[in-house]
Amino acid sequence: MAFKPADNIQDLQYFGEFGGVNPSISDSSTYTFLSAKTMFDTFEGNADGCYLYSRHSSPSNLYLGEALAAMEGTETANVAATGMGAIVPALLQLCKAGDHVVSSRTIYGGTYAFLKNFAPRLNIATVFVDITSLDAVEAAITSNTKVLYCESVSNPLLEVANIEALSKLAKKHGLTLMVDNTFSPLSISPARLGADVVLHSLTKFINGSSDTMGGVMCGTKEYINDLRNVNDGASMLLGASMDSLRAASILKNLRTLHIRVKQHSKNAQYLAEKFEADGLKTVYPGLSSHPSHQLFTKMMNAEYGYGGMMTVDVGSIDKANELMEMMQHKNLGYLAVSLGFYKTLFSAPGSSTSSEIPEEEQKEMGLSDGLIRFSIGLDNDIERTYALMRDCMVQIGVL
Ligand SMILES: *Cc1c(COP(=O)(O)O)cnc(C)c1O
Repeated sequence: MAFKPADNIQDLQYFGEFGGVNPSISDSSTYTFLSAKTMFDTFEGNADGCYLYSRHSSPSNLYLGEALAAMEGTETANVAATGMGAIVPALLQLCKAGDHVVSSRTIYGGTYAFLKNFAPRLNIATVFVDITSLDAVEAAITSNTKVLYCESVSNPLLEVANIEALSKLAKKHGLTLMVDNTFSPLSISPARLGADVVLHSLTKFINGSSDTMGGVMCGTKEYINDLRNVNDGASMLLGASMDSLRAASILKNLRTLHIRVKQHSKNAQYLAEKFEADGLKTVYPGLSSHPSHQLFTKMMNAEYGYGGMMTVDVGSIDKANELMEMMQHKNLGYLAVSLGFYKTLFSAPGSSTSSEIPEEEQKEMGLSDGLIRFSIGLDNDIERTYALMRDCMVQIGVL
C-alpha cells in the first residue's frame, strides 16, 4: 500500500489541558519530581514519560518530533534549534576521530563547510563525490567510512539521489545512510526507500512562514536515545535544542504542509514548463528533460508533485542580478536566501548560499554564475506571475 505521510500526521491528535484542540505548550525549562528516586532514574534514562530539563526533551518538542517521525515513517525523531543543529550532532553521534564520511558534493553550503573545514579539526575526513554515480560512491568507501551523506534533491543543482540504490550500498558496507530531505518534504520519503536517518531544516518548507528556525533528525529509537543521552549524546551536549514555544508553532504550521507543498509544486511545474518552452535553461525534476526525472517519479509520493525548487540559468551573474532586482521591484518575489515561503524567493547560489564552495569546484559540479535558484511561492494566479516574470526577462534581454 502507498505510504501516506500527510495522513499519518493527521492521525496524530494531541489535546491540550482543558480540552484545547492544540496541545498545551510546556512553558518550563525544568520539571519537578515527586520522588528523588525518579529523578535519579530519569538521569539514567530509565524513567519513560518523565521530563527532566528542556535541553534534553520537553512535551512540546516530543509532540513535534513524533509528528515528523510519522511523516517520515521512522520510529521516532528529535527536534533541534536549527537545521545545522540537527545535521552536525547527527553526524558526530556516529563519527569519531579517524572516521570517514562519503558525501554528495552538491549539498547545502553549511553542511559542506562543516564537513570540509570543521570536521577535519576532529580528525573526521570527508570525500565528496558525484552522488548520481553509484560507482564513484562505492569507490570512495574505505574501511573507516561510517556515514554515506546526501540530499534527496540537492541544493542548488536539484540532482536527485537514488536512495534505494544508495541504501543497498550502505548496507553492503555497513554504513549509515543519512538523507537531508529539506527540499522535498512529503514528495519523497527517504526512510521508506532505505535511508537510516532523515534530516530536515524545518526553517524551510515545513514551517513555511520564514519566521523561525528549526531542524530534526528522524531515525530509530536507539539512535535518537543515543543523541539525547546525558553522558555522550551529541544533541544533548552540543546544546542546539529547540524552544518549546517554537516547537508548538511549527507543529501548527506542519498541519497545512500537504496543502502548501501541492501548491508550491503546481506553481513550480507550471513556470518550469513555460520557461523551458521559452528556451531558458531550466532545471526542475518535474520536467522530462531533467536527468533524474524518471528516478524522482519512481521514488515520489505522487500527489505532492516535484516540489517548489527550480533553477534557471540566465547566462551571467550581471543578468541574474539585474533580473532578480527587477522581479523584486515588480513584487514577484524577494531577493533572499532560504526557501519554502508563501512568496517566491530567489538568489544566485554561486555568490550566496553556495559561496562556501570554491569557484573551481562550483564549475566542476556545473554551478554556473548565471544560475538563479527559485523557491516558488504559493501564488494564487501563477499564469499572471508568469506573464509578469516574462516581461522582466524580455526587458533584460534574456528572452
Ligand atoms: C537551510 C538548509 C539547511 C540548514 O538549515 P538551517 O535551519 O539554516 O540551520 C540544511 N540543509 C538544507 C538542504 C537547507 O536548505
